[in-house]
Amino acid sequence: MKIEFKKAPQTPKELEVEFNSVKIVGTFCKISQSLVKIDAKLIGNTDIDCCRCGITDNIELDEKLDFLLSDRIIKNDESEDLVIEIENGLIDFDEIIQGELEAIKSDYHICEQCSQNNDDFEKEF
Ligand SMILES: [Zn+2]
Repeated sequence: MKIEFKKAPQTPKELEVEFNSVKIVGTFCKISQSLVKIDAKLIGNTDIDCCRCGITDNIELDEKLDFLLSDRIIKNDESEDLVIEIENGLIDFDEIIQGELEAIKSDYHICEQCSQNNDDFEKEF
């Protein structure tokens, strides 16, 4: 789902976007001329590879997703919050979900089997 940045509501609006069986559920609203606040959760299921044995696990997601979107270039020292720049004046929620999934997949993940063998593994080093 895409919406025009300038059409983002001034008061929190319900948000529910699904992409590849993962959903963003929450609210979004404009907090200034060039900032949109997303206050949501990422829920659903995704495949993730165990970084030890390579087996693919399906994990349940329940992640808080709070960030700001801006249609301008934001200098990092301007805000403590995470600000994501959008392109072409469009907020692309599918792309946001995809980006989050990629970040989750690049995280360190160990399957159940390997975490049970964790003690043995640590002794090897
Ligand atoms: Zn494993």
